[in-house]
Amino acid sequence: MQLTWADCWMNHKEDSLNSSEQSFCDAYYSEAPTHRLYDLRWIFLDVDEDDVSEDWMEVQLTNLNSVFLPWGFQFQTNEVVIIADAVAESDDYYEEWTLREILPDLRAQLGLSEDEQMALDELKDELAARHVSQEELDNITLDEEYNTAAAFRLASRARSESITIVIRPGLDASGKSGGPPPEFQISRGSVLELRSTLLNGNSLTTLPHEMGHFFGIGHTHAPDYNEAEADFGFEQRWTRMAHDGEAIRRVVGEDYSQPFGEPYLAYDGSGQDLVEHQELMGEAFVWPTWNFLYSGDQEKFNSLAEFVQAGEAGETIYRTNFERNYGFDGKSVEWYGMNCFWNDSASEGQCLFGEDPVIRLNNQHPLLQDSIFFENGTVSNLMSYITPPYEDVSSRRGITDEQEDMIRFTANSPMRMLLYNHCLGTELCSDFPDNQDDSGGDDSEVGPVPEPVPFCCTGTSTEIYVAVGIVAVAVALAIMRRKR
Ligand SMILES: [Zn+2]
Repeated sequence: MQLTWADCWMNHKEDSLNSSEQSFCDAYYSEAPTHRLYDLRWIFLDVDEDDVSEDWMEVQLTNLNSVFLPWGFQFQTNEVVIIADAVAESDDYYEEWTLREILPDLRAQLGLSEDEQMALDELKDELAARHVSQEELDNITLDEEYNTAAAFRLASRARSESITIVIRPGLDASGKSGGPPPEFQISRGSVLELRSTLLNGNSLTTLPHEMGHFFGIGHTHAPDYNEAEADFGFEQRWTRMAHDGEAIRRVVGEDYSQPFGEPYLAYDGSGQDLVEHQELMGEAFVWPTWNFLYSGDQEKFNSLAEFVQAGEAGETIYRTNFERNYGFDGKSVEWYGMNCFWNDSASEGQCLFGEDPVIRLNNQHPLLQDSIFFENGTVSNLMSYITPPYEDVSSRRGITDEQEDMIRFTANSPMRMLLYNHCLGTELCSDFPDNQDDSGGDDSEVGPVPEPVPFCCTGTSTEIYVAVGIVAVAVALAIMRRKR
């Protein structure tokens, strides 16, 4: 069985690596990988076996891989579990069951014994083997209570070498996901959720978008502005960085001029290296964010340094993509909905700013090209709610170079390095395109933003998960169409 980064990190600390393990860790966990191939576990809750088609999974997987291939990420199905009558599946967040009650679900997912006490011991063994701390293990008892998400997250942690996708009817969005927390020895695993109604359609945008969140990138837009332009709030956000900006400056320099690169925590790094990596997880979100901001009359920033300069000079900084007058209360407003959208009649992507007059920019404007829209406007940003007409793969598959830095950084976070990367030590990834990794070097991690206001809404802490919305998109598009 392949060693994960977490195995190497923990065993190195305990001085328990044998020489062949040591060589493996040295070869593959001293610097960031260029390619990644991850296993997927598909877990269907309250879905009949008849409703799960292999074709559907195949189409979803093929599309996901097409979207992520340019970034050197690929996925393969490793396991499919269908629980037609799950105990822990509800649309009520507060409904809870004891661990004893959810054992049937855990047995179906993890193959635990019939005997309760044996099943509990086996569960703890699985978690311990994946480096859940003793303190966390001690809190797991047959009487401990779990809601739906806590139940499937516990199971996913016991299979943390794979990415778990839970497909269930009770989800209150078409998809949900989030980035990793800084701490990896917790018993709450990561999960990407899809609503089971997706099984009846051919939507291809949700899964790649949620995978984007899973690897630490947030929405391009800010929700809920009732102004003609969406003030980014430089003062509140910049001055309240989790570590006063020190973590991000360690990477991009005091003047913010250096490339982010791919910060990486080597398996034999020090405790201080881990702390600095975790601190960077709290501040790294600013790196992809500056590219979705502007000042003045839609003047784009060309670098993080330019953005910081403008903000520190007291200029108002605005979001490029936002959701305006969302809580429309019947008052007369000129327009509401997403300010960036696919305009059917013009057959192009556009964004609206200001009012009196409303300024309408198309995808070729420097502010929008290669950040909100890509490939001559035929493709939109993966993390937007804009979906140009389909071709054969999701037409929402563009990301900026900075977002790409971020997904690699997140893939290098301790929590995500519980995953197997099947590219390491194999030929499985030799046909991937070459990455144009600009800087190499060390990377760090993802973007959980512990406390200050996150710039975007990605799951920056364990509890903050991002509802995505094909539903929201459909509603927004319907609204936009009505207005135009
Ligand atoms: Zn989302």
